[in-house]
Amino acid sequence: MQINIITISTQQNLKSSATDLQRISEQTPGTYQIIFRFLERFHIGTLRAIQALATRTAKPAVYLLLGVLPVEAEIHKRKLTFLHSLTTCSNNKIKEIINRQIAVNFDNNNSFFFQSALLLAKYNLPDIFDKNIPIPSKLSWKKLVKTEISSFWTLRLKEEAHQMSSLKFLNLNFGNANSTHPVWDSVEQNLIEIRKASTKVRMLTGTYMVQADKHKFSQYTIDPTCLLCHREIEDILHVLTQCPVLCNERKEYFTPIKQLVTENSPPGTWELLFNNKLAVTQLVLDCTKYMKQLGFKEELILKLETFTRHFCFKLHYKRISLLKKLDG
Ligand SMILES: [Zn+2]
Repeated sequence: MQINIITISTQQNLKSSATDLQRISEQTPGTYQIIFRFLERFHIGTLRAIQALATRTAKPAVYLLLGVLPVEAEIHKRKLTFLHSLTTCSNNKIKEIINRQIAVNFDNNNSFFFQSALLLAKYNLPDIFDKNIPIPSKLSWKKLVKTEISSFWTLRLKEEAHQMSSLKFLNLNFGNANSTHPVWDSVEQNLIEIRKASTKVRMLTGTYMVQADKHKFSQYTIDPTCLLCHREIEDILHVLTQCPVLCNERKEYFTPIKQLVTENSPPGTWELLFNNKLAVTQLVLDCTKYMKQLGFKEELILKLETFTRHFCFKLHYKRISLLKKLDG
């Protein structure tokens, strides 16, 4: 089921992107910028489809959760690897051409060597055009390029994510742009678990639709009050920690979460850290925020992720079932 959704979505994405490229190419002759924009759009669209996320999902989260760099970073990696191959090439004819290009074209903004010099500066990499600097081996260079590009994009994506209120529960002090977030890392090759994880990721990225969102998107005409309990505004915090109509499922699936934390942390930790609904919501949506305080290693984090994934999905399932009944 999930694979079908993802496959159809990816195919639609590919088809629509290909049509876009054709349309753009017909309107104006192809340029690097046009092709680049197409690639970027296709890349982000595919990453969203893989995670079954809405198009309004904030871009930094789409990359950070999967541990994938934007297409621009990938192009830069390949450009810089190619640059190393050129500068270390032993073929005399090629060396002559390179030296001539550097001498004639270095101040040409569009030349490969000018662009490469900008990239070296952008990523704080050694100036391998400088004859006085020893050129690293191919392996060392690739490793260095990968590390520097990853650091640069981790910082940039996290800075962007920091500005977005929809990502307030995503812990930006955890991981880097090359590592998969535990929300996906904890999922095995199992369609039901993938479906559960998609639901949780929508909650984590602020794209899980609740009454408060409908209120906002309808220019404040739709009532934001919870349709199940009619007691208060339905936001994600209400669904996960407060709605009394979901209390049976909440109690059943929250018990293993609390048990795992209390059994594996010093006495009193639970009462100290999780004494309010906001902290509990944070624990459920992205427990990496408390990794240090809890002293949890990767294995326990993945286990906690699994429990919280079940918790989110069970509440979602019950909520949707009840809403469908209300709709008649
Ligand atoms: Zn409610």
